[in-house]
Amino acid sequence: MNRDIDIAAATRDLLSELTPGVELVVAAKTRSPAEVMEAINGGAKNIGENYLDEAERAFEVIGKKACWHFIGRLQKNKIGRIVELFDLIETLDSIDMARLIEASCTAIGKVMPVLVEINIGREPQKSGIMPEEAPGFIQEAAGFRHLRVSGLMTMGPQNLSQGELRPYFTATRRLFGEIGQSGIARVEMRYLSMGMTDSYRAAIEEGANVVRIGSKIFGPRSG
Ligand SMILES: *Cc1c(COP(=O)(O)O)cnc(C)c1O
Repeated sequence: MNRDIDIAAATRDLLSELTPGVELVVAAKTRSPAEVMEAINGGAKNIGENYLDEAERAFEVIGKKACWHFIGRLQKNKIGRIVELFDLIETLDSIDMARLIEASCTAIGKVMPVLVEINIGREPQKSGIMPEEAPGFIQEAAGFRHLRVSGLMTMGPQNLSQGELRPYFTATRRLFGEIGQSGIARVEMRYLSMGMTDSYRAAIEEGANVVRIGSKIFGPRSG
């Protein structure tokens, strides 16, 4: 644990700075359950986890005191446990995964809110749906009765400054609005998740209502 940082105070400061209506998701990767608990003590309501095993360890300590967002890369062999533990999946980006989530949810009688991850920079190696494919993808995903498409998530291209990321946030916001307007049955464009430690201010200005923040709360990651 990084003793130089008061995690609860950093969380409180950040929460008080956020525009009303913007939800903080605490990005917990590589942090211990005790550190994550400190963020909860500081008022955080949502924890974002990239890795199932880390999430399970944190869940043992924190349980239902938080709402659990899956923000990592989905893996087929972990979907069953992800569906059991998490309250929302932010990173849906294939129909194969949608089908597996549907099957796992059906088995346990759960409806899973999902955000569709958008590869807004159209980067070949990156996860996420290409923006032009998003409406068709969402239409198809909405056909799964145990999924509730509830918004969009994007990372934006890596290693860009906040200013350079801004047009990508604007483009994601525009797509979010267009899909919302198009009125696809069973789809609600409610959450727009974008912005991290170095970019959340621009993301909020461009319309994000969910920000995923780690380093600003916990300090730099060691590995
Ligand atoms: C790590 C991570 C974040 C937060 O990154 P910070 O720069 O530490 O704020 C946000 N979203 C995702 C998907 C992440 O993996």
